[in-house]
Amino acid sequence: MIKIEGDNTNEAPAPSEGKSPVSAAIFLPGATIGILGSGQLGRMSAMAAKSLGYRVAVLDEVADGPACSCADLSFTASFDDLDALARFAEAVDVVTVEFENIPIGALEFLETRVPVRPSASVVRTCQDRVLEKEFLQNNGFPVAPFRVINSAEELASALSELNSLCILKTAALGYDGKGQISLKPSDDAASAWKQLAAPRAVLEQRIAFASEASVICARTFAGETLCFPVQANVHRNGILDITTVPAQLNPSVLVKAQEITSAIAVKLGVIGLITAEFFVMENGDLIVNELAPRPHNSGHHTLETTMTSQFAQHVRAVCGLPLGPVELRSSGVMVNLLGDLWQSGEPDWELLLREAGLFLHLYGKREPKAGRKMGHFTLLSSQASHPEAQKRAIELRELIKYGAESDRL
Ligand code: ATP
Ligand code: MG
Repeated sequence: MIKIEGDNTNEAPAPSEGKSPVSAAIFLPGATIGILGSGQLGRMSAMAAKSLGYRVAVLDEVADGPACSCADLSFTASFDDLDALARFAEAVDVVTVEFENIPIGALEFLETRVPVRPSASVVRTCQDRVLEKEFLQNNGFPVAPFRVINSAEELASALSELNSLCILKTAALGYDGKGQISLKPSDDAASAWKQLAAPRAVLEQRIAFASEASVICARTFAGETLCFPVQANVHRNGILDITTVPAQLNPSVLVKAQEITSAIAVKLGVIGLITAEFFVMENGDLIVNELAPRPHNSGHHTLETTMTSQFAQHVRAVCGLPLGPVELRSSGVMVNLLGDLWQSGEPDWELLLREAGLFLHLYGKREPKAGRKMGHFTLLSSQASHPEAQKRAIELRELIKYGAESDRL
């Protein structure tokens, strides 16, 4: 392991005793990467790590998650179990996360033993909507008008202050649009607050955006940043549905989205990846919706479309390796496959796999629940044929539903 001096990150300083110096910057292939969380993001990160010759250990509260079958070691334990965390720290050289809803105490404990990238402090900011919004606003990044809400009374006055359509979002533990309630100024604050059943929330003005986009940026220990191409996202029921790359936006908007994301990465001092989700206004203005300090669902297409995938870049950034090039090899459309698709039976994979330029990824989840992300596919396209590729991808997802072909006969 090579150690680089200098600390321009917010990685926690920690005692240097223990099996390895916690300030070590570079972990070469052969080292063990510890991933907190064992979902599909951990699985694809583990695959990227394995193909670079790393060993992988995952720790999660649930057993047998999608990442476990791709890891050398799996720990099943509560994130509050300090003995298990100590054993995990002993088994790995560097720790990263695949989701941000990890108790900060666990990350802080691990930081005393092993480098944690992103740091507990970065994860703390990104796992709490209040801290995240305040971080963005205080640093001059554009956000939707919002109010912090701690009670039904505060909600009532915020609704009348913002005086527009709004969304009430839990401060913690929201994902895929869960923990959100749409409100209008005349709605009853007391019943909305009761329904949300959260100790703290953000009331945010509903933005009449023209489209949504996201940018994934990698930042290294040495402070280098590199953004992936801007991707255009369409959500359905609060869940990402389709991502198209490159986003068909004015070039000045594309540059601005990448500049904002790099600036966020620098201000946060993140080591690893940071994803910024944007609302794009009709006039090209950008509003940052939220941040994720990890690989992102909207970046799954990078497995096929860019020179380096988001997962390989995550591994490189976390391990202190040079960042890989992110130029597009092809444009493409990524479509999520939710559990709903399994409603009448197993989808027709053969039909999908016969399609030229289509790459299918299934996460190995056993139970296809409604709204659960079971897999995705990416259909490569020439940029000129973006709308056709989108149409075809959506059509294919319909066609593979069990019984869909016989229905049409
Ligand atoms: P995820 O973590 O899966 O991205 P989430 O639960 O954190 O989801 P958000 O990203 O806050 O949720 O919201 C999900 C989607 O809901 C957004 O991508 C957007 O389509 C819509 N949405 C959220 N906030 C607003 C807003 N203020 N105005 C308009 N639409 C919004
Ligand atoms: Mg989101």
